[in-house]
Amino acid sequence: MTAHAGTTLSSQELLDLTQHEIQALLTEFNLADAHTHQRQSAAQHKIVARLPELWYEAEEGLQATYEQRFIEAFFRLHRQPTALAKNKTLLSYAASISTMVVAMYLKQQRMAVTLVEPCFDNLHDVLSNMGVPLYPVEESALHDPDRIYAELKRRVRTDALFLVDPNNPTGFSLMHSGRKGFEEVVRFCKDHNKLLIIDFCFASFTLYDPELARFDVYELLEESGVRYLAIEDTGKTWPVQDAKAAMLTASDDIKEEVYNLHTSVLLNVSPFVLNMLTQYVENSEADDLASIRDVLDINRVAVKEALQGTILEYQEPIAKTSVAWARIQHPDLTATELQRELREVGVYILPGRFFYWSQPGRGEPFVRMALAREPEMFAGAMKRLREVLDRHER
Ligand SMILES: *Cc1c(COP(=O)(O)O)cnc(C)c1O
Repeated sequence: MTAHAGTTLSSQELLDLTQHEIQALLTEFNLADAHTHQRQSAAQHKIVARLPELWYEAEEGLQATYEQRFIEAFFRLHRQPTALAKNKTLLSYAASISTMVVAMYLKQQRMAVTLVEPCFDNLHDVLSNMGVPLYPVEESALHDPDRIYAELKRRVRTDALFLVDPNNPTGFSLMHSGRKGFEEVVRFCKDHNKLLIIDFCFASFTLYDPELARFDVYELLEESGVRYLAIEDTGKTWPVQDAKAAMLTASDDIKEEVYNLHTSVLLNVSPFVLNMLTQYVENSEADDLASIRDVLDINRVAVKEALQGTILEYQEPIAKTSVAWARIQHPDLTATELQRELREVGVYILPGRFFYWSQPGRGEPFVRMALAREPEMFAGAMKRLREVLDRHER
């Protein structure tokens, strides 16, 4: 493997994070995409060994059985009894497909949307490519639960508000204040008749964090009477080579329209994939998500150590997700330049500008590094990262 394997498109400007991530897949130390590239744990190996059995089982059974088992296991793990009891969650192949359905709904209703910034640029791109007008709201508007209501009232001018919790890349979560932050967002949306859209794709990472324990969010949503759409995902949690499934749940007042859009996109997710994912979810229930968290914890320690005393400052997140967010402390080194230097030595990280989708310049001090990687490879990447950082004086 050469350090320059990823330079095939180097003369062409990369237009979004996914194009960076595609280049990173060719690179020795790919810390770009937040997909799961770690190996299987011992218990997960046993699931892989049973794949033929899971295949034939899914061939024999009813689609509805595998859907129900998967949804039950997922919401049980996530401690969301209300979502489970409501029994109205729609499955799709990927979170981006669920987001596309959300975008189709917004377009159909001629709604504009206010989307949190920074966030993963794919959300912005899907919405914008579907022709939905978008406006940013700074994540900082959500930081103080006592100010959320007033901040949103002042800033949100559209009919819909789109949040990501925990946020990708910053790891910010409304749950840091218990129920209060979330309650305030819901109260604002209810009082002002806003559609609340929440992307929970990173939620599994906070499940066993005592500070952030996820309460029954769907109970709050349902009982408040707020109009909502909630996206859940498996793709960033389990190492299943992107054989993932995502879920979309809508409040009763709009669920029929959303269902009609959903069925225009897909019939069903593969019962084999659902059967397999159910095993992974149940395994995580049995080990309190240890196989997921352990890898991330090891790599988080490694990145903090590697950055110690350098110009790149680790940003302590509220939610410990599968990405690390760091800030450059140097008067004239930009993330774009640092990303280029690292790429030359075979380490691919993402520059922050794409996460600041309305004002890319504000992302220039930041970079994001993915943690869902084999720790041995990650340690190698950290060694090279450190060598490059040591070229720059603090
Ligand atoms: C990755 C990601 C998505 C999209 O997931 P896909 O599996 O790529 O469709 C959506 N939201 C968040 C927060 C993500 O991190």
